[in-house]
Amino acid sequence: MSALQPVRGTQDLLPEEQRRHRAVSETARLIAERYGYHEVATPIFEFTEVFARPIGETTDIVSKEMYTFTDRGGDEVTLRPEYTAGIVRAIISNGLTQSLPLKFFASGPMFRYERPQKGRYRQFHQIDVELIGIGDPQGDVEVIALGADILDALGVLKRTELELNTLGDTASRHAYREALVAYYSVHRHALSEDSLRRLDRNPLRILDSKDEGDKRVNANAPSFAQYLTPEAQGYFDAVRAGLDDLGIAHRVAPRLVRGLDYYCHTAFEFVTTDLGAQGTVLGGGRYDGLMALMGGPDTPGIGWAAGIERLAMLIDAPPGPPRPIAVIPIGDAAQTAALKLARELRRAGFGVDLGYSGNVGRRMRRANKVNARAAVLLGDDELARNAATVRDLDTGTQSEVPLAELAARLAPFR
Ligand code: ATP
Ligand code: MG
Repeated sequence: MSALQPVRGTQDLLPEEQRRHRAVSETARLIAERYGYHEVATPIFEFTEVFARPIGETTDIVSKEMYTFTDRGGDEVTLRPEYTAGIVRAIISNGLTQSLPLKFFASGPMFRYERPQKGRYRQFHQIDVELIGIGDPQGDVEVIALGADILDALGVLKRTELELNTLGDTASRHAYREALVAYYSVHRHALSEDSLRRLDRNPLRILDSKDEGDKRVNANAPSFAQYLTPEAQGYFDAVRAGLDDLGIAHRVAPRLVRGLDYYCHTAFEFVTTDLGAQGTVLGGGRYDGLMALMGGPDTPGIGWAAGIERLAMLIDAPPGPPRPIAVIPIGDAAQTAALKLARELRRAGFGVDLGYSGNVGRRMRRANKVNARAAVLLGDDELARNAATVRDLDTGTQSEVPLAELAARLAPFR
């Protein structure tokens, strides 16, 4: 059994690490609720078609990263690689397109078959927000501001930069696509095999490539700005002006494209240089075509997702739980009384550590090991008087306290 290891790219979150993850997701949920984004949970696996078409056959996610299998009933299912498609599916399945706009927050595990490295895992976790039914630049500004406020509440905003781009409207993307195909066709010989395949089907995705050769070709690729329609340019200007009004600093990154096919208009990422190669902590964009693509009514949407592991690495260690009270029976007769007292104190809201065996010396060592704030010592004599001895473990002072007054006496140690 000693040889059993976790699956490559998965991790155990032991208490200290789990506390970091919790701090990220709870802080995010709190801030999201202030913005009116309510938490939802969708299934961790869906029919494969929920992800395959919306995310796009030419994307890394669908072409090589999904955990897809046939279940025992013969259904093709996939462990979710991202939130948006599942949430949009849930909106359609539950008939919620009648109640727009919808503002949702979610957090939980994601699965992608990637090459594991620092900040990149096969099971990882995301926080996610989606604003569905608003096709106005104010919506873009709101979700970006929400992201900035969450990063700020986590104390990491100062360590990130906001990069912003527009993918324009359909007409802009069509014109740009042609320009890209013309450019890449000339540089065909320098492109990776993956990118050659994307050239016909989704040339925009080549801009997103991590291949070094592709990156060199991308350095001189035409930029989107020249191909934007006046409407798309106006939309982008309005988003930028809204961010300026809120004092949210940003930089236009002309080659920023999202990895997924259904994005249009605003694309954005909060990036940091503090995490090495995996520098994107939060990324998102507008996906006005997605709902219709998935069989729902034509409905605009925008959202983002952030990697909890990457954020957890950036935050200061969150405080642990409050120091417990150690309840220590002295002698056999006090055992039952200690069990009862521990339960009473717990029900009164105290964290209580109760060692299971050993003499007083051993139990005191345990109290120190769990960093108890105070010890309640229960001896036969004290019990006969309906009392216990309370010892302040920081100062060493102690006094006898009637059991009825114990909770009040311990209150300062909570
Ligand atoms: P990358 O370019 O790093 O692969 P991506 O474009 O695939 O990112 P998204 O699909 O936009 O990422 O996911 C949003 C966020 O989720 C990322 O910015 C990142 O913080 C996090 N993330 C994505 N994939 C992983 C992973 N395999 N392990 C850990 N975090 C991840
Ligand atoms: Mg990726």
